[in-house]
Amino acid sequence: MKNKKLYGLIMCILLSGTALGVEFKEGKYVGEAKGYRGEVKVEVTTSKNRIEDVKVVKNTDTPILSDAAARKVSEQVVTYQSLRVDGAAGATGTSRAVAMAVRNALKSSGADLKELNKKPKIEAKQLVKKELNEDVVVVGAGGAGLVAAIEAKNNGAKDVIVLEKMAFAGGNTLISGGEYAAPNNWIQEKKGIKDSKETFYKDILKGGDNEGDPKLIKVLADNALDGAVWLKDYINMTFEDRQLFFGGHSVERSLVPKDATGVEMISKLLKKADELGIKVYYETPAKELIVKDGRVVGVKAVGPENEYTINASKGVILATGGFGSNLEMRVKYNKDVDEKVLSTNTVGITGDGILMAEKIGAKLEDMQFIQTYPTCDPISGALLYFGDVRLAGGSILVNQEGKRFVEELERRDVISMAIKKQTGSVAYQFCDEAQAKASGVVDHHGPEMNYLFNNKLLVKANTIKEAADFFGIDAKELEKTVEKYNQYAKDGKDLEFNKRGKLTPFEAKGPFYIMKAVPAVHHTMGGLKIDENARVINTQGEVIKGLYGAGEVTGDIHGTNRLGSDAIADITVFGRIAGKTVMSDNK
Ligand code: ADP
Repeated sequence: MKNKKLYGLIMCILLSGTALGVEFKEGKYVGEAKGYRGEVKVEVTTSKNRIEDVKVVKNTDTPILSDAAARKVSEQVVTYQSLRVDGAAGATGTSRAVAMAVRNALKSSGADLKELNKKPKIEAKQLVKKELNEDVVVVGAGGAGLVAAIEAKNNGAKDVIVLEKMAFAGGNTLISGGEYAAPNNWIQEKKGIKDSKETFYKDILKGGDNEGDPKLIKVLADNALDGAVWLKDYINMTFEDRQLFFGGHSVERSLVPKDATGVEMISKLLKKADELGIKVYYETPAKELIVKDGRVVGVKAVGPENEYTINASKGVILATGGFGSNLEMRVKYNKDVDEKVLSTNTVGITGDGILMAEKIGAKLEDMQFIQTYPTCDPISGALLYFGDVRLAGGSILVNQEGKRFVEELERRDVISMAIKKQTGSVAYQFCDEAQAKASGVVDHHGPEMNYLFNNKLLVKANTIKEAADFFGIDAKELEKTVEKYNQYAKDGKDLEFNKRGKLTPFEAKGPFYIMKAVPAVHHTMGGLKIDENARVINTQGEVIKGLYGAGEVTGDIHGTNRLGSDAIADITVFGRIAGKTVMSDNK
């Protein structure tokens, strides 16, 4: 017992991290560094022998995700008394920036930075086994998972737990534009745009080359508006007073959340989940489903301190997203999306739910259909919000030769394929200042624009020639292309590509913008086969009792190709259904 106490004391000292030999001038130090999208600023407090505290006082990277990075790096620096810490997976850019800002802050503290830069020795933790008893276990705290958890709770579940693999919630939903396709929505009404559930249904079916399951598509089309109203009125999401026109839709119907990112949806869902007493366990990936007498009765999961067996008396809802970040799985099903193709997905999107369910006999559908998003960051593969200018109808896509080559509001797969065939497999998005402003990107995505300028992926110039020369685009040809497009806009008809929607001519005077972009893996249309009530189906076509699925983890809804802004409608509609069914099946 005595020895144990002594050991505990030594471990405590080690873990509370006294950086042996490193001395500081006692005080508070401020440091800055460049984050992914802007400045990160920290305030570091030191005593004579230790870094006592790290506060991140400014952080302009994506909220929630970069908050996790800030929290993890601060904790790790203090715990290990080292600047060589990992931070949060999936938020490495911000993690590095926070660590760098701490380093910069400590430059004037008199500390030996070399010593602080040594990699800390981190002992592997002994995980403690723990059993939890819940009504409903939701796997994945992305959009679908949080929606499902909230509905399960509102339909009578007492204990709901959401397991999240990463240190932050949100998954791909968080880093998306968050737009939501809803027929007959309030903006359409205001603008006098005629739409219907039937038209939406047809668009989804046709947009996926008739490969989606008509029954599931009907559920999505019929309930999309209701889901949007639920998000607005019950979840208290703020939507902007405008819409976007996503490729492949026959009318403009895509609602835009505040600031045009998924942050609004995830932060409001988290707030509601918290109010309802739903537990979210972070850094706790589910590893396998527990099956008893043919029924899913729980999951095994691993957290930072514990190895969990979590019993679910009502059922388990899988909402782990797709597999866009799992290269092996991508190539297994579709050789075209190999390591040469970047991905917009966060690192946690590795098909875990699909694999866990497949192991217990779930049926997989459409796994070979993997969508690339046409205009992504050529360096990281990230989605670029500057692309919204295209979705607002205000830009053209040209190639190195200065020529248009595709209808700008075509389906994502069609545009991606067209880009692949151009010189260097890149596209250039051209627009003027008025269109950039009208699309909202100038107001909302300044930090991203700075990132693009700094990395020479976006140029703003006073003349078309100057902008074209920046990227070595044939300037004369681009001038001609713009002239032609302006004529089409005047005549109200695009004679070359029949671009849908209202055509607005570019202004004669600059500034003009050109952004360089490439296609990257975005959405995996394949996944678990579910019925109209979100119950997972096995390879024999029967329901797997106790198992539900919602969101990108499921397949057979969007067919070969998901239309833009249909995913947020999908996760909301089927997330809600999964949350309700898990309770109604067990009355
Ligand atoms: P959807 O759009 O279908 O809601 P998202 O990509 O938004 O999908 O969210 C999926 C979430 O599931 C992400 O937050 C991801 O980190 C999480 N996740 C993936 N695999 C696991 C796992 N094994 N255990 C827990 N969470 C997981």
